[in-house]
Amino acid sequence: MPDHIADELAMFRQTLREFVSAEITPHALDWEEAGRLPRSLFARMGGLGYLGVRLSEASGGAGRDFRYTKILVEELVGSGSLGIAVSILAHAEFATKVVDRAGSDDLRKRFVAPAVRGELIGALGVTEPDAGSDVGAIRTRAVRDGDEYVVNGSKTFISNGNIADYVTTAVRTGEAGPRGISLVVIPTHTPGFTAAARLRKIGTHASDTAEIVFEDCRVPAANLVGDENGGFRLIMQGFEGERLVLSVMICAQMRLMFDAARRYGLERDVFGHPVLGFQAWQHRLADVLTTIEAAEALTERAVDLYVRGEEANSEISMAKLFSAEAAVGVAHDCAQIFGGSRYMEENLIARLQRDSLAFSVGAGTSEVMREIIARTNGLVPPRKAT
Ligand SMILES: Cc1cc2nc3c(=O)[nH]c(=O)nc-3n(C[C@H](O)[C@H](O)[C@H](O)COP(=O)(O)OP(=O)(O)OC[C@H]3O[C@@H](n4cnc5c(N)ncnc54)[C@H](O)[C@@H]3O)c2cc1C
Repeated sequence: MPDHIADELAMFRQTLREFVSAEITPHALDWEEAGRLPRSLFARMGGLGYLGVRLSEASGGAGRDFRYTKILVEELVGSGSLGIAVSILAHAEFATKVVDRAGSDDLRKRFVAPAVRGELIGALGVTEPDAGSDVGAIRTRAVRDGDEYVVNGSKTFISNGNIADYVTTAVRTGEAGPRGISLVVIPTHTPGFTAAARLRKIGTHASDTAEIVFEDCRVPAANLVGDENGGFRLIMQGFEGERLVLSVMICAQMRLMFDAARRYGLERDVFGHPVLGFQAWQHRLADVLTTIEAAEALTERAVDLYVRGEEANSEISMAKLFSAEAAVGVAHDCAQIFGGSRYMEENLIARLQRDSLAFSVGAGTSEVMREIIARTNGLVPPRKAT
Protein backbone atom coordinates (compact mmCIF):
# COMPACT_ATOMS: atom_id res chain seq x y z
CA MET A 1 0.00 0.00 0.00
CA PRO A 2 1.46 3.43 -0.93
CA ASP A 3 2.62 5.51 2.06
CA HIS A 4 0.15 8.33 1.49
CA ILE A 5 -2.83 5.92 1.61
CA ALA A 6 -1.49 4.25 4.76
CA ASP A 7 -1.10 7.69 6.33
CA GLU A 8 -4.60 8.72 5.31
CA LEU A 9 -6.09 5.50 6.74
CA ALA A 10 -4.16 5.97 9.99
CA MET A 11 -5.38 9.56 10.28
CA PHE A 12 -8.97 8.49 9.60
CA ARG A 13 -8.68 5.89 12.38
CA GLN A 14 -7.18 8.34 14.83
CA THR A 15 -9.85 11.04 14.43
CA LEU A 16 -12.62 8.43 14.48
CA ARG A 17 -11.19 6.84 17.63
CA GLU A 18 -11.16 10.22 19.38
CA PHE A 19 -14.76 10.86 18.27
CA VAL A 20 -15.95 7.42 19.48
CA SER A 21 -14.27 7.73 22.87
CA ALA A 22 -15.56 11.29 23.42
CA GLU A 23 -19.08 11.08 21.97
CA ILE A 24 -20.14 7.44 21.77
CA THR A 25 -18.53 5.28 24.47
CA PRO A 26 -19.76 7.47 27.38
CA HIS A 27 -23.38 6.99 26.20
CA ALA A 28 -23.21 3.35 25.13
CA LEU A 29 -24.92 1.97 28.25
CA ASP A 30 -27.74 4.54 28.04
CA TRP A 31 -28.40 3.63 24.41
CA GLU A 32 -28.29 -0.09 25.26
CA GLU A 33 -30.91 0.65 27.90
CA ALA A 34 -33.04 2.74 25.51
CA GLY A 35 -32.89 -0.02 22.86
CA ARG A 36 -32.14 2.46 20.11
CA LEU A 37 -29.72 5.17 19.02
CA PRO A 38 -30.77 8.82 19.22
CA ARG A 39 -31.34 10.65 15.94
CA SER A 40 -28.79 13.21 17.11
CA LEU A 41 -26.01 10.61 16.73
CA PHE A 42 -26.87 10.11 13.04
CA ALA A 43 -26.91 13.88 12.52
CA ARG A 44 -23.59 14.31 14.32
CA MET A 45 -21.90 11.46 12.44
CA GLY A 46 -23.37 12.72 9.17
CA GLY A 47 -22.01 16.20 9.88
CA LEU A 48 -18.54 14.74 10.39
CA GLY A 49 -18.75 12.71 7.16
CA TYR A 50 -18.77 9.26 8.81
CA LEU A 51 -22.05 8.06 7.27
CA GLY A 52 -21.00 8.51 3.65
CA VAL A 53 -17.60 6.86 3.81
CA ARG A 54 -18.27 4.41 0.97
CA LEU A 55 -21.09 6.32 -0.73
CA SER A 56 -20.51 8.19 -3.97
CA GLU A 57 -19.28 11.76 -4.11
CA ALA A 58 -22.27 12.52 -6.36
CA SER A 59 -24.48 11.76 -3.32
CA GLY A 60 -22.33 13.80 -0.98
CA GLY A 61 -20.35 10.79 0.24
CA ALA A 62 -16.58 10.44 0.43
CA GLY A 63 -16.38 7.80 -2.34
CA ARG A 64 -13.79 5.80 -0.36
CA ASP A 65 -13.27 2.05 -0.59
CA PHE A 66 -14.03 -0.69 1.91
CA ARG A 67 -10.79 -0.17 3.87
CA TYR A 68 -12.38 2.98 5.33
CA THR A 69 -15.59 1.11 6.15
CA LYS A 70 -13.45 -1.50 7.90
CA ILE A 71 -11.96 1.18 10.14
CA LEU A 72 -15.41 2.66 10.80
CA VAL A 73 -16.70 -0.76 11.89
CA GLU A 74 -13.66 -1.54 14.05
CA GLU A 75 -13.74 1.78 15.86
CA LEU A 76 -17.51 1.63 16.49
CA VAL A 77 -17.15 -1.88 17.92
CA GLY A 78 -14.42 -0.41 20.17
CA SER A 79 -17.22 1.46 22.00
CA GLY A 80 -18.06 -1.91 23.60
CA SER A 81 -21.61 -1.91 22.21
CA LEU A 82 -22.03 -4.00 19.11
CA GLY A 83 -25.57 -2.69 18.67
CA ILE A 84 -24.21 0.79 17.91
CA ALA A 85 -22.11 -0.58 15.05
CA VAL A 86 -25.05 -2.67 13.78
CA SER A 87 -27.42 0.30 13.71
CA ILE A 88 -24.99 2.69 12.00
CA LEU A 89 -23.91 0.14 9.40
CA ALA A 90 -27.49 -1.02 8.73
CA HIS A 91 -28.18 2.61 7.82
CA ALA A 92 -25.03 3.61 5.93
CA GLU A 93 -24.19 0.34 4.22
CA PHE A 94 -27.06 -2.17 4.12
CA ALA A 95 -29.99 0.19 3.41
CA THR A 96 -28.25 2.93 1.47
CA LYS A 97 -25.30 1.57 -0.47
CA VAL A 98 -27.53 -0.33 -2.90
CA VAL A 99 -29.65 2.76 -3.61
CA ASP A 100 -26.50 4.78 -4.24
CA ARG A 101 -25.08 2.07 -6.53
CA ALA A 102 -28.16 1.11 -8.52
CA GLY A 103 -30.76 3.83 -7.92
CA SER A 104 -31.67 6.79 -10.12
CA ASP A 105 -30.28 10.32 -9.65
CA ASP A 106 -33.66 11.25 -8.19
CA LEU A 107 -33.45 8.47 -5.54
CA ARG A 108 -29.90 9.47 -4.70
CA LYS A 109 -31.04 13.06 -4.23
CA ARG A 110 -34.13 12.21 -2.18
CA PHE A 111 -32.70 9.43 0.01
CA VAL A 112 -28.94 8.89 -0.27
CA ALA A 113 -27.80 12.52 0.11
CA PRO A 114 -29.96 13.12 3.26
CA ALA A 115 -28.78 9.72 4.59
CA VAL A 116 -25.17 10.82 4.17
CA ARG A 117 -25.94 13.98 6.15
CA GLY A 118 -27.69 11.92 8.85
CA GLU A 119 -31.01 13.71 8.25
CA LEU A 120 -32.79 10.52 7.18
CA ILE A 121 -32.26 7.07 8.71
CA GLY A 122 -32.44 3.92 6.58
CA ALA A 123 -33.24 0.24 7.12
CA LEU A 124 -33.01 -2.77 4.82
CA GLY A 125 -36.14 -4.93 4.68
CA VAL A 126 -35.60 -8.34 3.16
CA THR A 127 -36.43 -11.00 5.80
CA GLU A 128 -40.09 -12.01 6.25
CA PRO A 129 -41.78 -14.19 8.85
CA ASP A 130 -41.86 -17.04 6.30
CA ALA A 131 -38.72 -16.29 4.25
CA GLY A 132 -35.24 -15.60 5.62
CA SER A 133 -32.40 -17.61 4.08
CA ASP A 134 -34.57 -18.32 1.05
CA VAL A 135 -34.80 -14.73 -0.22
CA GLY A 136 -36.38 -16.01 -3.45
CA ALA A 137 -39.47 -17.02 -1.44
CA ILE A 138 -40.45 -13.54 -0.17
CA ARG A 139 -44.15 -12.72 -0.47
CA THR A 140 -44.50 -8.97 0.20
CA ARG A 141 -46.19 -7.89 -3.00
CA ALA A 142 -45.97 -4.62 -4.95
CA VAL A 143 -48.64 -4.21 -7.62
CA ARG A 144 -48.25 -1.45 -10.19
CA ASP A 145 -51.16 1.01 -10.30
CA GLY A 146 -50.47 3.93 -12.65
CA ASP A 147 -47.43 5.81 -11.36
CA GLU A 148 -47.42 3.95 -8.06
CA TYR A 149 -46.82 0.56 -6.49
CA VAL A 150 -49.31 -0.68 -3.92
CA VAL A 151 -47.38 -2.70 -1.34
CA ASN A 152 -48.83 -5.34 1.01
CA GLY A 153 -46.96 -7.74 3.29
CA SER A 154 -44.63 -7.81 6.27
CA LYS A 155 -40.96 -8.01 7.22
CA THR A 156 -39.28 -9.12 10.42
CA PHE A 157 -35.99 -8.76 12.33
CA ILE A 158 -35.42 -5.39 10.61
CA SER A 159 -32.55 -3.42 12.15
CA ASN A 160 -33.53 0.28 12.57
CA GLY A 161 -37.13 -0.73 11.71
CA ASN A 162 -38.62 1.59 14.36
CA ILE A 163 -36.34 4.57 13.83
CA ALA A 164 -35.99 4.48 10.04
CA ASP A 165 -37.35 7.15 7.68
CA TYR A 166 -37.11 4.79 4.71
CA VAL A 167 -36.89 1.04 4.22
CA THR A 168 -35.11 -0.32 1.16
CA THR A 169 -37.57 -3.15 0.70
CA ALA A 170 -37.54 -6.42 -1.22
CA VAL A 171 -40.95 -6.88 -2.88
CA ARG A 172 -42.47 -9.33 -5.29
CA THR A 173 -43.36 -7.64 -8.58
CA GLY A 174 -43.31 -10.67 -10.83
CA GLU A 175 -43.26 -14.46 -11.06
CA ALA A 176 -42.54 -16.77 -8.10
CA GLY A 177 -38.86 -17.23 -7.20
CA PRO A 178 -35.80 -14.96 -7.47
CA ARG A 179 -36.66 -13.56 -10.89
CA GLY A 180 -39.82 -11.80 -9.67
CA ILE A 181 -38.22 -9.64 -6.96
CA SER A 182 -37.61 -5.87 -7.00
CA LEU A 183 -36.16 -3.38 -4.55
CA VAL A 184 -38.27 -0.34 -3.68
CA VAL A 185 -37.52 2.51 -1.27
CA ILE A 186 -40.53 2.93 1.01
CA PRO A 187 -40.71 6.08 3.19
CA THR A 188 -41.96 5.13 6.63
CA HIS A 189 -44.40 8.08 6.74
CA THR A 190 -46.35 6.40 3.90
CA PRO A 191 -49.96 5.70 5.03
CA GLY A 192 -50.32 1.95 5.64
CA PHE A 193 -46.77 1.54 6.97
CA THR A 194 -46.56 0.31 10.57
CA ALA A 195 -43.55 -0.61 12.65
CA ALA A 196 -44.91 -3.08 15.19
CA ALA A 197 -43.61 -3.19 18.74
CA ARG A 198 -39.85 -3.34 19.12
CA LEU A 199 -38.57 -6.91 19.12
CA ARG A 200 -36.86 -7.84 22.38
CA LYS A 201 -33.50 -9.45 21.65
CA ILE A 202 -30.99 -11.21 23.89
CA GLY A 203 -28.17 -8.92 22.72
CA THR A 204 -27.12 -5.98 20.48
CA HIS A 205 -29.56 -3.92 22.54
CA ALA A 206 -28.54 -0.49 21.25
CA SER A 207 -29.73 -1.58 17.82
CA ASP A 208 -33.45 -1.24 17.35
CA THR A 209 -35.07 -4.27 15.66
CA ALA A 210 -38.65 -4.36 14.39
CA GLU A 211 -41.33 -6.23 12.60
CA ILE A 212 -42.88 -3.98 9.96
CA VAL A 213 -46.15 -4.21 8.09
CA PHE A 214 -47.29 -2.72 4.76
CA GLU A 215 -51.04 -2.36 4.22
CA ASP A 216 -51.93 -0.84 0.85
CA CYS A 217 -48.84 1.38 1.02
CA ARG A 218 -48.79 3.58 -2.08
CA VAL A 219 -45.23 4.31 -3.18
CA PRO A 220 -44.16 6.24 -6.30
CA ALA A 221 -42.98 3.86 -9.05
CA ALA A 222 -39.96 6.18 -9.24
CA ASN A 223 -38.84 4.64 -5.93
CA LEU A 224 -37.89 1.42 -7.73
CA VAL A 225 -34.14 0.72 -7.38
CA GLY A 226 -32.68 -0.52 -10.66
CA ASP A 227 -34.87 -2.64 -12.95
CA GLU A 228 -38.23 -4.16 -12.13
CA ASN A 229 -37.68 -7.84 -11.24
CA GLY A 230 -33.93 -7.20 -11.02
CA GLY A 231 -33.88 -6.95 -7.21
CA PHE A 232 -32.57 -10.41 -6.35
CA ARG A 233 -29.21 -9.77 -8.02
CA LEU A 234 -28.91 -6.39 -6.25
CA ILE A 235 -29.68 -8.00 -2.89
CA MET A 236 -27.10 -10.74 -3.44
CA GLN A 237 -24.45 -8.19 -4.48
CA GLY A 238 -25.29 -6.13 -1.40
CA PHE A 239 -24.94 -9.21 0.82
CA GLU A 240 -21.25 -9.43 -0.09
CA GLY A 241 -20.58 -6.02 1.48
CA GLU A 242 -22.84 -6.84 4.45
CA ARG A 243 -21.05 -10.12 5.14
CA LEU A 244 -17.71 -8.41 4.95
CA VAL A 245 -18.96 -5.80 7.43
CA LEU A 246 -20.03 -8.66 9.71
CA SER A 247 -16.65 -10.43 9.40
CA VAL A 248 -14.83 -7.23 10.35
CA MET A 249 -17.28 -6.66 13.21
CA ILE A 250 -16.74 -10.17 14.55
CA CYS A 251 -12.95 -9.90 14.41
CA ALA A 252 -13.04 -6.55 16.21
CA GLN A 253 -15.41 -7.97 18.83
CA MET A 254 -13.13 -10.99 19.38
CA ARG A 255 -10.13 -8.65 19.87
CA LEU A 256 -12.09 -6.68 22.44
CA MET A 257 -12.95 -9.87 24.34
CA PHE A 258 -9.35 -11.10 24.18
CA ASP A 259 -7.97 -7.78 25.46
CA ALA A 260 -10.48 -7.77 28.33
CA ALA A 261 -9.59 -11.39 29.25
CA ARG A 262 -5.85 -10.72 29.10
CA ARG A 263 -6.16 -7.61 31.27
CA TYR A 264 -8.25 -9.40 33.87
CA GLY A 265 -5.97 -12.46 33.80
CA LEU A 266 -2.98 -10.28 34.62
CA GLU A 267 -4.77 -8.30 37.36
CA ARG A 268 -6.83 -10.87 39.23
CA ASP A 269 -4.99 -12.91 41.84
CA VAL A 270 -5.99 -16.47 42.74
CA PHE A 271 -3.95 -18.74 45.02
CA GLY A 272 -1.43 -15.91 45.46
CA HIS A 273 -0.70 -15.11 41.80
CA PRO A 274 -2.44 -13.72 38.71
CA VAL A 275 -4.85 -16.11 36.95
CA LEU A 276 -2.56 -15.91 33.93
CA GLY A 277 0.19 -17.39 36.13
CA PHE A 278 -1.47 -20.74 35.38
CA GLN A 279 -0.07 -22.29 32.23
CA ALA A 280 -3.57 -23.65 31.58
CA TRP A 281 -4.76 -20.05 31.07
CA GLN A 282 -1.68 -18.97 29.12
CA HIS A 283 -2.34 -21.84 26.68
CA ARG A 284 -6.07 -21.24 26.53
CA LEU A 285 -5.61 -17.57 25.61
CA ALA A 286 -2.81 -18.52 23.20
CA ASP A 287 -5.37 -20.70 21.39
CA VAL A 288 -7.88 -17.84 21.45
CA LEU A 289 -5.35 -15.43 19.96
CA THR A 290 -4.41 -17.91 17.23
CA THR A 291 -8.09 -18.32 16.31
CA ILE A 292 -8.58 -14.54 16.18
CA GLU A 293 -5.55 -14.06 13.96
CA ALA A 294 -6.79 -16.80 11.60
CA ALA A 295 -10.18 -15.05 11.36
CA GLU A 296 -8.47 -11.69 10.76
CA ALA A 297 -6.27 -13.18 8.03
CA LEU A 298 -9.29 -14.65 6.20
CA THR A 299 -11.13 -11.34 6.56
CA GLU A 300 -8.15 -9.31 5.37
CA ARG A 301 -7.83 -11.53 2.29
CA ALA A 302 -11.54 -11.07 1.51
CA VAL A 303 -11.31 -7.28 2.03
CA ASP A 304 -8.30 -7.10 -0.26
CA LEU A 305 -10.07 -8.97 -3.09
CA TYR A 306 -13.23 -6.92 -2.60
CA VAL A 307 -11.36 -3.60 -2.68
CA ARG A 308 -9.60 -4.66 -5.88
CA GLY A 309 -12.98 -5.48 -7.44
CA GLU A 310 -12.19 -9.16 -7.86
CA GLU A 311 -14.55 -12.10 -7.37
CA ALA A 312 -14.71 -12.61 -3.60
CA ASN A 313 -17.98 -14.39 -2.83
CA SER A 314 -16.27 -17.58 -1.64
CA GLU A 315 -13.58 -15.77 0.39
CA ILE A 316 -16.15 -13.45 2.02
CA SER A 317 -18.33 -16.43 2.93
CA MET A 318 -15.33 -18.27 4.42
CA ALA A 319 -14.34 -15.21 6.45
CA LYS A 320 -17.90 -14.74 7.76
CA LEU A 321 -18.37 -18.46 8.47
CA PHE A 322 -15.06 -18.95 10.27
CA SER A 323 -15.29 -15.75 12.33
CA ALA A 324 -18.92 -16.26 13.32
CA GLU A 325 -18.41 -19.86 14.41
CA ALA A 326 -15.14 -19.02 16.21
CA ALA A 327 -16.67 -16.08 18.10
CA VAL A 328 -18.91 -18.30 20.24
CA GLY A 329 -15.92 -20.30 21.56
CA VAL A 330 -13.74 -17.21 21.89
CA ALA A 331 -16.51 -15.48 23.86
CA HIS A 332 -16.85 -18.45 26.21
CA ASP A 333 -13.11 -18.78 26.81
CA CYS A 334 -12.60 -15.05 27.33
CA ALA A 335 -15.58 -14.82 29.69
CA GLN A 336 -14.59 -17.88 31.73
CA ILE A 337 -11.43 -16.21 33.08
CA PHE A 338 -13.71 -13.70 34.86
CA GLY A 339 -15.20 -16.39 37.10
CA GLY A 340 -18.55 -15.32 38.58
CA SER A 341 -18.35 -11.79 37.25
CA ARG A 342 -18.68 -13.16 33.69
CA TYR A 343 -22.37 -13.51 34.54
CA MET A 344 -22.92 -10.02 35.93
CA GLU A 345 -24.87 -7.58 33.81
CA GLU A 346 -22.53 -4.63 34.44
CA ASN A 347 -19.49 -6.54 33.17
CA LEU A 348 -18.52 -5.66 29.59
CA ILE A 349 -17.63 -9.30 28.91
CA ALA A 350 -21.20 -10.39 29.69
CA ARG A 351 -22.54 -8.06 27.00
CA LEU A 352 -19.88 -8.97 24.44
CA GLN A 353 -20.57 -12.64 25.00
CA ARG A 354 -24.30 -12.25 24.46
CA ASP A 355 -23.84 -10.08 21.38
CA SER A 356 -21.63 -12.77 19.80
CA LEU A 357 -24.62 -15.08 19.39
CA ALA A 358 -26.10 -13.03 16.53
CA PHE A 359 -23.07 -13.47 14.29
CA SER A 360 -23.94 -16.90 12.88
CA VAL A 361 -27.32 -15.58 11.66
CA GLY A 362 -27.07 -11.91 10.59
CA ALA A 363 -26.47 -11.22 6.86
CA GLY A 364 -26.84 -14.94 6.10
CA THR A 365 -26.52 -17.95 8.40
CA SER A 366 -23.45 -20.17 8.72
CA GLU A 367 -25.32 -22.89 6.81
CA VAL A 368 -25.92 -20.49 3.93
CA MET A 369 -22.20 -19.55 3.99
CA ARG A 370 -21.35 -23.26 3.66
CA GLU A 371 -23.77 -23.55 0.73
CA ILE A 372 -21.98 -20.69 -1.08
CA ILE A 373 -18.54 -22.14 -0.35
CA ALA A 374 -19.65 -25.56 -1.61
CA ARG A 375 -21.23 -24.10 -4.74
CA THR A 376 -18.29 -21.87 -5.64
CA ASN A 377 -15.64 -24.53 -5.03
CA GLY A 378 -16.91 -27.47 -7.11
CA LEU A 379 -18.38 -29.39 -4.18
CA VAL A 380 -21.85 -29.80 -5.64
CA PRO A 381 -22.09 -32.73 -8.06
CA PRO A 382 -23.93 -32.01 -11.33
CA ARG A 383 -27.46 -33.39 -11.49
CA LYS A 384 -27.59 -36.71 -13.37
CA ALA A 385 -29.82 -36.74 -16.46
CA THR A 386 -32.84 -38.98 -15.89
C1 LIG B 1 -30.00 -9.20 15.19
C2 LIG B 1 -30.54 -9.44 13.79
C3 LIG B 1 -30.65 -8.37 12.90
C4 LIG B 1 -31.17 -8.58 11.62
N1 LIG B 1 -31.31 -7.50 10.77
C5 LIG B 1 -31.92 -7.68 9.58
C6 LIG B 1 -32.17 -6.56 8.72
O1 LIG B 1 -31.81 -5.43 9.03
N2 LIG B 1 -32.83 -6.77 7.54
C7 LIG B 1 -33.24 -8.02 7.16
O2 LIG B 1 -33.82 -8.15 6.09
N3 LIG B 1 -33.01 -9.11 7.95
C8 LIG B 1 -32.37 -8.97 9.15
N4 LIG B 1 -32.14 -10.05 9.97
C9 LIG B 1 -32.63 -11.37 9.56
C10 LIG B 1 -31.56 -12.36 9.14
O3 LIG B 1 -30.97 -11.97 7.92
C11 LIG B 1 -32.24 -13.74 9.05
O4 LIG B 1 -32.59 -14.10 10.39
C12 LIG B 1 -31.37 -14.80 8.44
O5 LIG B 1 -31.17 -14.55 7.07
C13 LIG B 1 -31.98 -16.21 8.61
O6 LIG B 1 -33.32 -16.23 8.23
P1 LIG B 1 -34.42 -16.91 9.20
O7 LIG B 1 -34.25 -16.31 10.54
O8 LIG B 1 -35.73 -16.80 8.55
O9 LIG B 1 -33.98 -18.42 9.31
P2 LIG B 1 -34.38 -19.56 8.25
O10 LIG B 1 -34.01 -19.15 6.89
O11 LIG B 1 -35.78 -19.99 8.52
O12 LIG B 1 -33.40 -20.72 8.70
C14 LIG B 1 -33.70 -21.70 9.72
C15 LIG B 1 -32.51 -22.66 9.80
O13 LIG B 1 -32.38 -23.35 8.52
C16 LIG B 1 -31.03 -23.27 8.12
N5 LIG B 1 -30.88 -23.33 6.65
C17 LIG B 1 -31.32 -22.44 5.74
N6 LIG B 1 -30.93 -22.82 4.49
C18 LIG B 1 -30.21 -23.96 4.66
C19 LIG B 1 -29.52 -24.84 3.75
N7 LIG B 1 -29.50 -24.59 2.45
N8 LIG B 1 -28.89 -25.92 4.27
C20 LIG B 1 -28.92 -26.17 5.62
N9 LIG B 1 -29.54 -25.37 6.50
C21 LIG B 1 -30.18 -24.29 6.03
C22 LIG B 1 -30.58 -21.91 8.63
O14 LIG B 1 -29.16 -21.80 8.64
C23 LIG B 1 -31.18 -21.93 10.02
O15 LIG B 1 -30.36 -22.67 10.88
C24 LIG B 1 -31.58 -9.88 11.23
C25 LIG B 1 -31.45 -10.95 12.13
C26 LIG B 1 -30.94 -10.74 13.39
C27 LIG B 1 -30.82 -11.92 14.34
